[in-house]
Amino acid sequence: MEVQPRVPFDDTAVAFSYKSNRDLRKANFIFTVVNHPFLSNVATRAVRVALALSLPVTGLIKKTVFEHFCGGETIDQSEETIQKLARFHVGTILDYSVEGAKTEEGFDTAAQEILKTLDKANGNPSVPFCVFKVTGMADAAGLEKAQTREGMSPDQKAAFDRVEKRVDRICSKASETGVPVLIDAEDSWIQNTIDSMAYEMMRRYNQKKAIVFNTFQMYRTDMLSNLQEAYKQATGNGYYLGVKLVRGAYLEKERKRAKKLGYPDPINPTKAATDEMFNNGLSFCIDKRAISLVCGSHNEYSNQYLTVLIEKHGLNSNDARVWFAQLLGMSDNISFNLAKAGYNVAKYVPYGPVQAVMPYLLRRANENTSVAGQSSRELTLIRRELKRRSR
Ligand SMILES: Cc1cc2nc3c(=O)[nH]c(=O)nc-3n(C[C@H](O)[C@H](O)[C@H](O)COP(=O)(O)OP(=O)(O)OC[C@H]3O[C@@H](n4cnc5c(N)ncnc54)[C@H](O)[C@@H]3O)c2cc1C
Repeated sequence: MEVQPRVPFDDTAVAFSYKSNRDLRKANFIFTVVNHPFLSNVATRAVRVALALSLPVTGLIKKTVFEHFCGGETIDQSEETIQKLARFHVGTILDYSVEGAKTEEGFDTAAQEILKTLDKANGNPSVPFCVFKVTGMADAAGLEKAQTREGMSPDQKAAFDRVEKRVDRICSKASETGVPVLIDAEDSWIQNTIDSMAYEMMRRYNQKKAIVFNTFQMYRTDMLSNLQEAYKQATGNGYYLGVKLVRGAYLEKERKRAKKLGYPDPINPTKAATDEMFNNGLSFCIDKRAISLVCGSHNEYSNQYLTVLIEKHGLNSNDARVWFAQLLGMSDNISFNLAKAGYNVAKYVPYGPVQAVMPYLLRRANENTSVAGQSSRELTLIRRELKRRSR
């Protein structure tokens, strides 16, 4: 569908209004490196080796990529970013991005940390949502076992009970504080387990409004029908459906595993098919009053398309039911221009100790590496803004 742009995503003055000249020059440096396949490869390998050898590189990482993509090492340290975004009407979704500690103690610590983000968000309009990943609080192998329903040992059952309790503690606190909580989507072989927990939480806590949001990865062939079924279940059982719509982050891993184990590829055959499903998903959600939507995307067309759907359905641009979300340090041209035009916008703001968020940072570097040496959209916009400011 042809969509007339309603929000000028190319207005770089608005897009980077929260960045000083120094910040912008740093962003230019970072995206120049990650955009270049050879440099990016060398830099990420060097960082991996340096960290493995305990070489003193954390200071350098902290001053560069960490400062660009993360709020800080703690919630308190993220305050400056929260305030900076809030000044431009962009909310913060504190994302505890620590990947590691696969022990019961580590899972409990992660759950405690998510509860702290809820304390931070309580009564704070600058932090409109909280978020968690189930694998931050659970052993992935246990989640897979729970999904296949193969005989679980008593120990595994007990561990899974503890996971459900952690998830319930977070969702019940979200309900008490009135702060909605997003549950991230993960690998397809554990996603049914996550879905089951999410729907149980919605049944408990989404009676008056959407507090618990599940994530739908529209790169999966079955996801539009899953969304429709989730809506049917919600309306049939009298609760609101909280939906975070994304395209999906684990395409290569999904395809590789399907090929290796010889089951049908769960991912749409083409990018165009994913795009179509994502946009149909947006349309489905806006059409249903019992659905609250968070559109998690850096795709300009999809974000414009959602603004068109909002108008077509006679909703206010800041209808409480509809949010746009991007990651800190990426697609500021979408976030800040949408916020200026009056839409509800929030950014995931990852935080955690530098070493512990490295896997997150390396994924961002990988994601922004150009194909065939083209300049990325980010880099083009940053350079355009630097040029505009120098005039
Ligand atoms: C706020 C926010 C929250 C997020 N939360 C999650 C989450 O919980 N779980 C999760 O998995 N991801 C999550 N993501 C990441 C997301 O799924 C995408 O990987 C990322 O945003 C890129 O997609 P895009 O919509 O921005 O647009 P684009 O850059 O236009 O789309 C890229 C995406 O299209 C799909 N794609 C690319 N090539 C093909 C192909 N050949 N065939 C089929 N599909 C293809 C892939 O999903 C790819 O990531 C989140 C992103 C944001 C901004």
